[in-house]
Amino acid sequence: MKVLVAIKRVIDYNVKVRVKADNSDVDLANVKMAMNPFCEIAVEEAVRLKESGVASEVVVVSVGSKSCEEQIRAAMALGADRGIRIDAEDGPDSLSVAKLLAKVVEQEQPGLVILGKQAIDSDNNQTGQMLAALLNRPQGTFASEVKVEGEQVIVTREIDGGLQTVALDMPAIVTTDLRLNEPRYAKLPDIMKAKRKPLEVKAPADYGVTVASKLSLVSVELPATRQAGIKVASVDELIDKLRNEAKVI
Ligand code: AMP
Repeated sequence: MKVLVAIKRVIDYNVKVRVKADNSDVDLANVKMAMNPFCEIAVEEAVRLKESGVASEVVVVSVGSKSCEEQIRAAMALGADRGIRIDAEDGPDSLSVAKLLAKVVEQEQPGLVILGKQAIDSDNNQTGQMLAALLNRPQGTFASEVKVEGEQVIVTREIDGGLQTVALDMPAIVTTDLRLNEPRYAKLPDIMKAKRKPLEVKAPADYGVTVASKLSLVSVELPATRQAGIKVASVDELIDKLRNEAKVI
């Protein structure tokens, strides 16, 4: 069984995000980029399925500019076998990405498609769901456990206040949550080996898809900066301030 993993290049999660002076977008100048953390978890899960003999091949796909080949190579260093980059301006909208992924699925015929539950830049949390709808295939979102049993994949989902387990007929779409696994670090020999693994570059037109967003970004603002706190000398003073200054009790 083949596993297809969709990965996105995003701002590294350690970076303090800046906004452009005109509030038109996030400022990406000289900012460290990385693989979306939920996509790293997706790659790790696919590689584990291969290591346990369940999967025969792991293919990673990313939609974006040439720079996202860095993240495709990173996924191959973690154990993916080959990569596909579909050339597009960075930050394509989720529906275009889902339409392109649907075409890749038609061509590659994977048993399982694994995506992150959300990209930490746009926080959309919709590409996996859109892909499942376009393909008319079952989806197991927010997965904290994935087990392949015969023709089905058993997905434990993190839902509000608990866990839900679903059995999906394959081919199926799975999106990863934080607790699914802890991704490994790439070893130097694997980083070197990844440079020689096949990476195909395609255009959206090769799949008959036009990347055109139906939404435009109006403005981006940073959260309001927190006011400095104060220290109080006693519980009585605290209660007094809460009652008479903050008026919250
Ligand atoms: P989103 O719906 O944008 O929050 O993204 C959810 C998941 O969809 C990501 O974790 C990726 O697995 C996948 N995805 C989103 N954008 C892209 C992209 N440009 N290329 C490949 N996969 C993507």
